[in-house]
Amino acid sequence: IVARSYHKEDTVVDIGGVKLGGNTVQVIAGPCSVETQEQMDRAAEMVVAAGCRLMRGGAFKPRTSPYSFQGHGVEGLEIFRAAADKQKLPIVTELMDVRSLDAFDEYNVDAIQIGTRNMQNFDLLKEVGRIQKPVILKRGMSATIKEWLMSAEYIAAGGNHNIIFCERGIRTFETYYRNVLDVTAIPVLKKETHLPVIVDPSHAGGKAWMVPALARAAVAAGADGLLVEMHPSPCEAWCDADQAITPDELNALMGELRGIAKAI
Ligand code: PEP
Ligand code: MN
Repeated sequence: IVARSYHKEDTVVDIGGVKLGGNTVQVIAGPCSVETQEQMDRAAEMVVAAGCRLMRGGAFKPRTSPYSFQGHGVEGLEIFRAAADKQKLPIVTELMDVRSLDAFDEYNVDAIQIGTRNMQNFDLLKEVGRIQKPVILKRGMSATIKEWLMSAEYIAAGGNHNIIFCERGIRTFETYYRNVLDVTAIPVLKKETHLPVIVDPSHAGGKAWMVPALARAAVAAGADGLLVEMHPSPCEAWCDADQAITPDELNALMGELRGIAKAI
């Protein structure tokens, strides 16, 4: 179902009224995690001020250490929804457990993110395949293109064809940066599937200063959008502080992208 041979035209996925895919580039921006109402209110204002039309933020966080902040859970969804509603922004947030799906409905989450660590959590994929909410499927950090495509097929096979691929960097021998952004995956995915392909430059480089260059490369290579971590005050971020760009940097990046993309 996800193969280009199944559907020749590019598929456009609607996230709360914002179209992802086709001739525009959409930038989904926001903090790694939902921290406080004030932080999310400010972030939402900054997302809109930069010209972005979709917001990200994690309420359920897949942290490497069990002692790190795990996210506020359902309370985080409530905070996020309230902040985004004030700016009329659709929201994107990560789902880690099928038991949270009722809360995702209650707070009207517009798009479900499946993180790199859950790309092959097949029961989770089957569950999001049974509903019609758009799913942003991140690439497993060590997943091949074929494995990634098959994971999307799990979702599509259940009846949910609203899928967006997100390249977020893969593990290699290199240790200088957090992951290696696989730019090659962009034209390959565009050839293999009719679904939108976006790129997360934040988790790829792992450092804020790398984000603009990786974002420009992704859009130049044909990405339909970006998922970028932006925090009102990056050095105070509770999670992924090193890679969060400032509101001013997001603003500058949007200006640069307008020179590369067909339309933003
Ligand atoms: C995130 O987007 O905050 C995240 C945890 O991403 P990934 O699953 O790509 O590590
Ligand atoms: Mn993060």
